[in-house]
Amino acid sequence: MTTISLVQGDITRQSADAIVNAANSSLLGGGGVDGAIHRRGGPAILEECRKLRASHYGKGLPTGRAIATTAGDLDARWVIHTVGPVFSTTEDRSDLLASCYRESLRVADELGARTVAFPAISTGVYRWPMEDAARIAVETVRSARTVVEEVRFVLFDERAYEAFARQVG
Ligand code: ADP
Repeated sequence: MTTISLVQGDITRQSADAIVNAANSSLLGGGGVDGAIHRRGGPAILEECRKLRASHYGKGLPTGRAIATTAGDLDARWVIHTVGPVFSTTEDRSDLLASCYRESLRVADELGARTVAFPAISTGVYRWPMEDAARIAVETVRSARTVVEEVRFVLFDERAYEAFARQVG
């Protein structure tokens, strides 16, 4: 059984086996949580991202996929980078958002991570409505086949925290 817990705060201050990054497909860093993770985690993360990009993801990491790197100076063993979908009003991309959570947990299982911290993927620059993103995140984690013991959603502000709290019940 996977326990779901909620924390309001900065994911880069969390201690966990794996911290999930809402990356962009370039793997070369960006704003939001991605920028914060690279800033606090230091250059080792970007260095490994660059190598992975050169060796496997020349066209970028596809949306909905996940890969792991060192966590650098973060209080974690790994950062799992996943690429969320940009929200669209004309196309239902829910499966891709669900895939981010599922694939991140699959990678976590491969690594042997027992505690995994997630941000609210796609709810920033990618504009996914918070309530719907929270529903997809919680439903996907609840139905995932994983041996991860704790999934911790780390929500940056009160609005995000409340949306996730409504879903967890
Ligand atoms: P995306 O491109 O997937 O939308 P963003 O980083 O823009 O990614 O935003 C995703 C979510 O992460 C947003 O809800 C944003 O408020 C939140 N966020 C930004 N910085 C942090 C942080 N340091 N810790 C946790 N969550 C964060």
